[in-house]
Formats: sequence, C-alpha cells, structure tokens
Amino acid sequence: MITKEEEITCVFCGGRGQDPFQIMSHLSTCYVCGGEKKVRVAIPYIRCSYCGGTGVSPLGGRNHCLACEGRGVIHTKGKTQKCPACGGTGVDESTGLYCLECHGGGEAPRG
Ligand SMILES: [Zn+2]
Ligand SMILES: [Zn+2]
Ligand SMILES: [Zn+2]
Repeated sequence: MITKEEEITCVFCGGRGQDPFQIMSHLSTCYVCGGEKKVRVAIPYIRCSYCGGTGVSPLGGRNHCLACEGRGVIHTKGKTQKCPACGGTGVDESTGLYCLECHGGGEAPRG
C-alpha cells in the first residue's frame, strides 16, 4: 500500500529552518526538519491536540512535542472520532503525557 505524503511548513521552527530555542547557538538547525524548513507527513493527518499544533511540548522546556514529533500534525488511519479516552484533548490527565489511545491527536480510529 502506498502512503501518500504531503510537504508542510515545519511548525517547530516556523519554516525558518533554525532551532527556535537556539539551544546550541543561534545558528543551530531545527532538528525537527533538519533545516529543510518543511517536513513530510503522511496523509490523512489531523492537528496534534496535545501541543495544539505548535510542535512544542506542552510540558514546557525546549523540547519538541513527543506526540507529533514536533510536526504539529499526526497521521491518522481512515475515519476518526473524538477520542473517548481523553475527550479530544490529547492529554492523559493522570500522567500529563499524551493520550496513548489517540497518540495525542484527540481523535481515535472509528469502529
Ligand atoms: Zn523546522
Ligand atoms: Zn504535538
Ligand atoms: Zn485520546
């Protein structure tokens, strides 16, 4: 089966190709897109509820979102519905980490 992909602007660096937090230096390349300014994502995809589509970890710090790997979107398979485990927030309230049922997307496969 062929997975279709789409190229989107890297949200983590805002399409600048540089580390938004400048961890190493202000010239560091963005490690999400590798400095390419764009990332390829498999379609269909939904916005990552866990980070709100920012690609930045909601746990704070300077890390990328673990649910979407800093891309701000999450690949889904087929039809989805609001995730019953987290109610669509993408957050596992007991741990504060992303919801394992929907992998942080807030939507789970239907059926
Ligand atoms: Zn980037
Ligand atoms: Zn995310
Ligand atoms: Zn969920």
